[in-house]
Amino acid sequence: MRALQYRIIGSAPEVVDIPTPTPAAGQVLVKVTAAGVCHSDEFLMSLPDDQYTYGLPLTLGHEGAGTVEALGEGVTGLQIGESVLVYGPWGCGRCYPCSKGEENYCERAANLEIKPPGLGAPGAMADYLIVDDARHLVPLGDLDPVASVPLTDAGLTPYHAIKKSLPKLVPGSVAVVIGAGGLGHVAIQILRAIAPCTVIAVDTSEDKRALARKVGAHHAVASDESAEEQILELTGGRKVDVVFDFVSIDPTTGLASRLIGVGGEIVLVGVGPGAVKVGFFSTPWEASARAPYWGSRSELIEVIELARAGKIKVEVEAFGLDQGPKAYERLAAGTIPGRAVIVP
Ligand code: NAD
Ligand code: ZN
Ligand code: ZN
Repeated sequence: MRALQYRIIGSAPEVVDIPTPTPAAGQVLVKVTAAGVCHSDEFLMSLPDDQYTYGLPLTLGHEGAGTVEALGEGVTGLQIGESVLVYGPWGCGRCYPCSKGEENYCERAANLEIKPPGLGAPGAMADYLIVDDARHLVPLGDLDPVASVPLTDAGLTPYHAIKKSLPKLVPGSVAVVIGAGGLGHVAIQILRAIAPCTVIAVDTSEDKRALARKVGAHHAVASDESAEEQILELTGGRKVDVVFDFVSIDPTTGLASRLIGVGGEIVLVGVGPGAVKVGFFSTPWEASARAPYWGSRSELIEVIELARAGKIKVEVEAFGLDQGPKAYERLAAGTIPGRAVIVP
């Protein structure tokens, strides 16, 4: 089968031919229908040798959709041909967070060397994908896999980030979304669907600001030195309630720190090196900061239901598997509106 692999540190990913895997006991073989392209892939491919921990060669793709092709020994409860989404943050399934469906916060994954597909285990950018356990497949029904595959990360990650902030997002509140890309443009829609707040998007790119407005942001401002002033003008001088930072570099975490108000929350989703200093003399009273990772299995089901209800719709641009390297070039150049999706 074909697979898009990261093979050499610092080099572009390549399409190669590798043997089609067979599912061992407990595993499921999925015929891939779609795989999403995430900025985190670009991040891991930018790591120097001594910081890279995902193994080589690595078949990319931690957003996966497919149909059930074959079942390993002992697997029950799935229909051959059934359309599924892959829940990516694999955990042990037995520790306390896993018992709550929060495998993204599994306490044992590191010790047991359990790694998500495309982030250590072979990923979804291939003709076939091995899924380690049937519980990591969520039924997709008749939803289009290409339009839906980003829900597994570009939908799930912002949904998890936003859900915990909901008590702060009351009528009259303001949420700022920094970075209206793959995750950010879905975050804007989730906010509009489940919270009565005003949504202000911030992006360096005029095209992404236009996308932000198109998908429901009340306002979109340029990410430059004037951003703070522009936002405070829009709020009538009031500081904001929650900032979701999908970039997390010094200029954006700095902006978030200056914008946040009393009792506010800064949510760092981007994997950039930026940080926020919280303290009695550093932040307004009761302000807090957190850095969430991915989301729970039940939240993935909730995100799929939002999509099924037509409340969120991912902007996607499809690429063939052979065009995969091109999709990553376009992502790096910042010219993907929404999410790039590989269709094998
Ligand atoms: P993307 O490339 O699709 O989007 C990034 C957006 O940020 C683009 O619209 C870009 O124009 C904008 N941007 C860049 N610099 C900016 C700046 N200085 N100010 C404002 N906007 C700026 O990326 P994505 O796939 O949506 O991922 C976003 C981030 O989230 C990445 O850092 C990614 O690694 C991270 N991520 C984290 C998790 C998690 O679990 N915490 C999960 C998935 C992705
Ligand atoms: Zn991702
Ligand atoms: Zn666990």
